[in-house]
Amino acid sequence: MAPPVTVDGFVAQFLRNLNFDRGVALSASSITDQYFALAYTVRDYLVARWLEDQRRLRETQAKTVCYLSAEYLLGRQLDNDLLAGGLDEIATEALAACGIDIADLRDAEVEPGLGNGGLGRLAACFIDSLATMSVPNIGYGIRYEYGIFRQTFVDAQQVEQPDAWLTMGSPWEFPHPEAAQTVSFGGHTETYDDDGVTRTRWVPGWGVQAVPYNLMVPGFQNGRVNTLRLWSSVATDSFDLRVFNSGDYEEAVRAQTFAENISKVLYPEDSTPQGKELRLQQQYFFVAASIADFLSQMVPDDADLTALGDRVIFQLNDTHPVIAVPELMRVLVDEKKMEWDAAWAVTQQCFAYTCHTLLPEALEVWSVDLLGRLLPRHLEIIYRINAEFLLAVRERFGDDEMRIRDMSIIAEYPERSVRMAYLATVAGAKVNGVAELHSQLLRDKVLPAFDEFFPGKFTNVTNGVTPRRFMRLANPQLSGLLTDTLGAGWETDLDRLRGLEAFADDADFRAQFAEVKAANKRRLSEVLHARDGFDVSDGHMLDVMVKRLHEYKRQMLKVLHVVSTYESVVSGRVAASDLQPRTAVFGAKAAPGYQMAKRIIHLINAVGSVVNDDPRLEGRLKVLFPPNYNVTLAERVIPAADLSEQISLAGKEASGTGNMKFALNGALTIGTDDGANVEIRQLVGDENFFLFGMSEPEVEALWARGYKPSSFYQADDDLRRAIDLIASGVFSGGDRSVFEPLVSNLLYDDRFMVLADFTSYMAAQRRVDAAYADQDAWNRAAILNIARCGFFSSDRSMRDYIDRIWHTPPMV
Ligand SMILES: *Cc1c(COP(=O)(O)O)cnc(C)c1O
Repeated sequence: MAPPVTVDGFVAQFLRNLNFDRGVALSASSITDQYFALAYTVRDYLVARWLEDQRRLRETQAKTVCYLSAEYLLGRQLDNDLLAGGLDEIATEALAACGIDIADLRDAEVEPGLGNGGLGRLAACFIDSLATMSVPNIGYGIRYEYGIFRQTFVDAQQVEQPDAWLTMGSPWEFPHPEAAQTVSFGGHTETYDDDGVTRTRWVPGWGVQAVPYNLMVPGFQNGRVNTLRLWSSVATDSFDLRVFNSGDYEEAVRAQTFAENISKVLYPEDSTPQGKELRLQQQYFFVAASIADFLSQMVPDDADLTALGDRVIFQLNDTHPVIAVPELMRVLVDEKKMEWDAAWAVTQQCFAYTCHTLLPEALEVWSVDLLGRLLPRHLEIIYRINAEFLLAVRERFGDDEMRIRDMSIIAEYPERSVRMAYLATVAGAKVNGVAELHSQLLRDKVLPAFDEFFPGKFTNVTNGVTPRRFMRLANPQLSGLLTDTLGAGWETDLDRLRGLEAFADDADFRAQFAEVKAANKRRLSEVLHARDGFDVSDGHMLDVMVKRLHEYKRQMLKVLHVVSTYESVVSGRVAASDLQPRTAVFGAKAAPGYQMAKRIIHLINAVGSVVNDDPRLEGRLKVLFPPNYNVTLAERVIPAADLSEQISLAGKEASGTGNMKFALNGALTIGTDDGANVEIRQLVGDENFFLFGMSEPEVEALWARGYKPSSFYQADDDLRRAIDLIASGVFSGGDRSVFEPLVSNLLYDDRFMVLADFTSYMAAQRRVDAAYADQDAWNRAAILNIARCGFFSSDRSMRDYIDRIWHTPPMV
């Protein structure tokens, strides 16, 4: 039974948890003790609903969305669960009665960084929406012991620290070692006679245990609680006592170390996979455990497995979980003894695939060599799937060898390998891109032959973000204004933001909005001051670019804008007093092995320290780069932003979700026609969006003509002066060699066409400055951005998945 929802009841439960679970008295308790006791108390209120929902799910056998994702970038849980449970006010009061400021406990939480960036955060938004919409869902993933690294700067350069988020333990997880699944690897396959039928079985070489850790995923004040199940690897036999006693301590724990490595660290990659065996082990580890878990826990033993498609849809979040396809086939054919054709028909109903990229280097492939060694049976199954698929292609198109080679799941060059995106496309009931433009390019450019072969298989679901975390929690002041203006409940019906349109012309409302924005800037200034010693100057436009560091996202373009502005003042061509005061805020982690990205981080910091200290700027241009951009920092930065930088080369950003968070918090976007920017601009209107740069077809045309970055360098004086200034060494203490690789990359390669879009970008920034000078008009445009972006709620994304892909009815 949940404790009574009163302040007294909350106090009593909190003290009980402090005493009995932490074993300390209030007077002797640390912040960590108090944080844990509070977390346990919040759990206590949610757990009864959770158990009830799990029971009902088993009983009704309702069709369940199993979201398979190698990443969940959850952000802090305490605030989220307090809000979802409707407990925030009671908890605040109860803790105050104990002499505790709840804000101190919030700050004690280390966010679980089990994702790299947008893809992992998307998964977290989706499971939040599914719980809020009462859709039966289990999120499956990996409980990495170390999540995304903690970024620090030493001498202006990124240094990675391990993210030891579990050092203190986590109060949000429920471990269930008794429900562990065995996951096997290696070995060989053999055939055997099964009552006159020849069957194949896999004789694995080794295995590990997958231990589930369950987390609650509470819906927003609807009494629903779904499950996120993260798998942790442990050795099958923990250690060899005989070897240990003989004195060989290292050998005694070797198997243990080996097994535990599988869930040890999140791969700090963002869009370029590395052919690492451990990564394939991770992928198979979590999907094999998840499929076994769902079948054993949720499907009765006597169920008709040919109808499994009515019971479950496994949504593949990118290619990382695609090895689940041959795994389900193996389970159905080898273990459940289904006929191949029947099993394949079921499998095709049980999977759907979301593609997240257009970068060819990010389309995952596994060498046949490695796959055959690690998962020999799965390789056989993939070969058979491919053979039957190519047979069907031949039947349709004849012996068009070129086409066969292009569509084969097995690539022959540069080495024989399995194309995971193709496997997912062949197996999936549906394949979706993540924004209109992306889905179109996916069909036209990446997988056109598949689109032709499977009419109706490709669809679009534009990404979204949860308004609970990214508006209500991150921006309480704006949320209060919205509730006062629109009434309660907009958080779950974001189309109601439309109601703000009428207020955009209301001077009083604009003044209130301006006050909210100013308060959010003050709050950010306090946070950055405490965190990094930074101060945000009053009256500055906050110009924000926060996202992973990647060349295609073009942080370099933003740096060139800063450097060019700086150069124009120090050379005396522009008076500092004529500058619109601006603070450029960057936040970005680079993959540890991505040298070019790390050099860009170095340059941003180097430019920042020169610009910030130069008195000639009269404090009118500042660069802030707080380290370790994560969800917690995003929640502070985004509500304070005036300008949202979404400046990727057109055709490279699949969707983006940062762009949506900013627009919903009343920042105006300066952006290219890329990803979901296209849809943002269509919704908010051209007059409320700063568009610049080449369109995707223009990018293609320029490539086709032959792109010469140096000709752009020659043609634009401002660009030439900015690049020359970087090359001169003024940002590197006179050492010209430090940023030389960046300069020559821009001048002689520039894969992402930074130089080609520079002139247009600068012109757009001048429009931004002019617009910002009229604060009233700016605020009007910001309010219209909020009013018109309700479409980007992840609840809408979920409705689209349900209508177009999953066809799941809501749980009763
Ligand atoms: C939303 C979010 C992202 C994704 O940002 P994009 O601009 O879409 O790349 C990455 N990291 C964090 C912490 C986020 O909250």
